[in-house]
Order: sequence, then C-alpha cells, then structure tokens
Amino acid sequence: MADLAIGIVGAAGRMGLALTRAVGEAAGCHLVGATEMPGHGALGADIGTLAGGAALGVAVTEDAGALFAAADAVLDFTAPQATAAHGALAADNVTVLVTGTTGLDADQQAMIEAAARSVAVVQAANFSVGINLAMALVEQTARLLDADFDIEVVEMHHRHKVDAPSGTALALGRAAAKGRGVELDAVAQRGRDGITGARERGAIGFASLRGGDVVGEHSVVFAGPGERLEITHKAGGREIFARGAVRAARWAADKPAGLYSMADVLGFNG
Ligand code: NAD
Repeated sequence: MADLAIGIVGAAGRMGLALTRAVGEAAGCHLVGATEMPGHGALGADIGTLAGGAALGVAVTEDAGALFAAADAVLDFTAPQATAAHGALAADNVTVLVTGTTGLDADQQAMIEAAARSVAVVQAANFSVGINLAMALVEQTARLLDADFDIEVVEMHHRHKVDAPSGTALALGRAAAKGRGVELDAVAQRGRDGITGARERGAIGFASLRGGDVVGEHSVVFAGPGERLEITHKAGGREIFARGAVRAARWAADKPAGLYSMADVLGFNG
C-alpha cells in the first residue's frame, strides 16, 4: 500500500500534538498538513517543532480546504462545530475522516453521518484498545446481571475538559444499556443534587469528576445486594488515543464509505 498522506486539524491542541508525534512514529504514513483556528498563536509555526520534535517542514495554516484536498486521511480532535464543518470537507474531497471530538449535538452528528455516505469515517468517543475492550465487557456484564445490580458510570478528567459526562462515559453507558436491551436516554440519570429521592430501579447513573491533569479514568460499577463489580480503565497518556487514531486512518484507507467505530478497526465486531 502507498504511503498514506495524513492531515491533522486542530494540530496545536493537546491531542493534535500527540497525533503529530504518533504520525511521526508510525510506519506507512507521513504528515502533509496541519491546521489551527483563525487567530491561533501556532499559525505559521512548524508543527514538528511545536510537538517537541524535529522540524517537519509542515507549517500550521488555517486553510482546512487545502488540507482536505492534499490528504488521504484527516485526523480531527477539535471542537463540535469545527468537526461538523470538517465532515462536509471530507465528503467534498472524498478524504477519510477519523474523528474523536466529543460533545456533538444532533445536527453536528448528522453532518458526520452525511459525510459517511460519501467516504469512510471512523468516529469513536475513545480510541484506546483498553476502553473498547471495556465496552464489550460492560455490554456482556449488563446482559448477564439483572436490575438488582445498579449501574453507575464514574469518570475523572483534567480540569480543562469542557463537556460532561465524557463522551467515553456516555459510550460505556450506551454499552450497558444495550446489554440490558434498553435505550440509554430512557434510563440515564445524569448528576444528582439535593433531595433526589431513592434511586430508580434500572437507572444508569453518571458522575463526573474534574481536576488536575488526569488524562481519563472511567469505571462502570455494578452494585448488587452484598457485592459490587467494577470495570475500570485508566489512561496513562494521550499517546494511546493518538496511536489508535493513526491505526484507524490506515485501516479506513481502503474501506468503502460508511461510519465505522474503533471496535470495527480492532476487529471486536467479528
Ligand atoms: P484542545 O482544546 O487542547 O485542542 C483542540 C484544538 O482544536 C485547539 O487547538 C483548537 O484551537 C483547535 N480548533 C478548534 N476549532 C478549530 C477549527 N475550526 N479549525 C482548526 N482547529 C480548531 O482539546 P483536546 O484535549 O485536544 O481535545 C479535543 C477533542 O478531542 C475534545 O472534544 C476531546 O473530548 C476529544 N478527545 C477525544 C479522545 C478520543 O479518544 N476520542 C481523546 C482525547 C480527547
């Protein structure tokens, strides 16, 4: 397979820099462009230097159109509005899109799904191998345990995170709901405060902690009479997501149009 030309949008962000390093370390691909939003301090700088390595001869620009035209695949960990716009560019240019942005509303998600009708799009709330395995285990556990076991999803992230619960926590909640054969929206209990009344049987609860520089910790608690089972994942660094995103881009390069998950990339869907 020819060397894959990869572009990174939001390249000077926390994930963008980790992605830049991951592309540099991966075989079979090279970086062709990097963007940031208008007015960003990184515009004009060499992305390799910004990411703490050698200069790559790739300057950060604000021209996403040119990036999508030049790249075979674009990695997008930005912000919901930007990701929706990037979806339209991916469709126009038939450029593979790998996106990990969380917190998309229904309209923004619809734009990603529209793009996936023209080109392969990999979208995941979490690109790590461990979390995707945890999702499979959570679904299976929820299928096997009845509603005598209360399900709570607890997550902790760094103080800069802007959305809650995390996209990964919601995905774990959806996996639990799927195992129980219910819709998450029908049973989700997001945050508690004051006189809440007793816990509703069958509810799936969420709690979000924020602080420090925690990359991401998620636990799904199955609390039954006299015993408690917890499935926990702790991310040690952003590299796990970045490596997963590069792996997803290489996997998607020869796939037909469609919306794929990280479980598809890892072969967890059979
Ligand atoms: P960040 O704020 O550090 O980085 C986002 C970058 O995108 C910023 O540099 C910002 O300037 C840039 N950006 C915003 N709009 C843009 C636009 N229109 N064009 C170009 N660049 C633009 O945030 P982060 O911690 O890197 O996280 C980014 C997103 O990725 C969040 O939604 C986060 O929840 C998600 N995330 C997902 C995973 C996963 O595995 N799926 C892992 C980590 C983070």
